[in-house]
Amino acid sequence: MSLFAQIRLHRELARWHESGHRPVLWWRDDDARGTSPAFERLLEVAQDLPLSLGVIPQGVSPTLAARLARTPSVTIAQHGIDHLNRRQPAEGPAADYTSAVAPGPLARRILAGRDALDQAGLDPVFFTPPWNRVEPVLIEALAIAGYFALSGWNGEGPTSLGFQRLDAHVDLLRWKGGPRFRGSGRVYEDLRRHLAERRRSGAFTRPIGLLTHHLDHDEETWSFLEGFLGLLRGEAEFRGFGELIAN
Ligand SMILES: [Zn+2]
Repeated sequence: MSLFAQIRLHRELARWHESGHRPVLWWRDDDARGTSPAFERLLEVAQDLPLSLGVIPQGVSPTLAARLARTPSVTIAQHGIDHLNRRQPAEGPAADYTSAVAPGPLARRILAGRDALDQAGLDPVFFTPPWNRVEPVLIEALAIAGYFALSGWNGEGPTSLGFQRLDAHVDLLRWKGGPRFRGSGRVYEDLRRHLAERRRSGAFTRPIGLLTHHLDHDEETWSFLEGFLGLLRGEAEFRGFGELIAN
């Protein structure tokens, strides 16, 4: 599966090459609250690639801002509020806001989270909700809170005029039953599918988002990620969130 998927991905990349276009990628890593050995490894693997870091406001440590002062290629995102699930199993995927919350109170919680990031020396430029749960009330609350850029999953949930949105599409982990590596074959195939969709529709410049969670990576995930980034550095353009949103 993995070798076959790898060959199929290389074939798709060759088609891009023949067309004279290079895929545009961006990278989001979620769930940071502070520095850790896994965070150091993330920075080491990223090297000079632009990286967006989803930081959970509750419990955020000032060590993060101190460490990031030496890494200008990292963009900060507010990753929800406290990352605690407030949904019942019957309500579908998890979210750290209830389905009954009104925009005003949700905006106040988002702003309190933003204050926590500010106090930790971090300046978030966009919002990314835990579990990528985007609902109309979240969009309204974000507008009240002064956010106009959002990252979710593969276009899921509503978007609204005037809101900049840049999503993730290729997740290195699978989540059912606890986080673990999705497997190289599946990751290659996900990327190939998004590349083929863009090539066939002529949307060559539409970015594809990679999603990682450094605290949940085992050795296999790290080793795959290093090799994967090595391949993509040669075949694609990595851009930062701010650069893509400005275009
Ligand atoms: Zn998260």
